[in-house]
Amino acid sequence: LLMGPMGSGKGTLVKHVQQKLPDLQFAVSCTTRQMRPGETEGNEYHFLTEDIFDKKVADGEFLEWAEFSGNKYGTLKSEIIERLEKGQVVLNEIELQGVQQLLPVVQEINRTLVYVESGPWERLRDRALARAPISEEHLTLRHERYLEEVKMKPYADVIIQNENDRLEDAKQQMVDVVQDVFNKVNI
Ligand code: 5GP
Repeated sequence: LLMGPMGSGKGTLVKHVQQKLPDLQFAVSCTTRQMRPGETEGNEYHFLTEDIFDKKVADGEFLEWAEFSGNKYGTLKSEIIERLEKGQVVLNEIELQGVQQLLPVVQEINRTLVYVESGPWERLRDRALARAPISEEHLTLRHERYLEEVKMKPYADVIIQNENDRLEDAKQQMVDVVQDVFNKVNI
């Protein structure tokens, strides 16, 4: 389970480990948010309408789901449980509420909680502002979110340091963490 504040670089780490360890499975989440440029259906997410998402909630198809920044996100049971049962290693990038729901559902022995540390709020804020225009209101929301996400840090099994100038190092840490999980599964 990969978590960390928005803008901490989780996406970059996911792409890197995807290339380095092709046997690693990815839990493709569902979301009701708009597709961003460069994203494709079934790759970053399954992009669902609100109605279809709600139907899946009602049908009990989600292992967890949460509302985040006005959009819904969820992990399908089929993306995780069935794969764990086959002995596969699955990576799921997920936010706070999702982690809190998953911890009691996925046994401790079957999971590793990884937190991406990327320095103080001011750095994340500056990075977000450099990426795209954001309103004051949105920025305040993100800050509140950041303060929530950092509370999960003490629960992490592994903390990846991803400060500004340490991206290459962070990528290697990410590969090492996942490789360790493969080693454990293969014992
Ligand atoms: P974004 O919209 O930038 O892709 O993602 C926003 C947030 O949603 C991120 O913090 C990401 O970790 C979280 N997220 C992505 N997929 C899921 C999921 O399946 N469940 C939950 N609870 N959060 C998710």
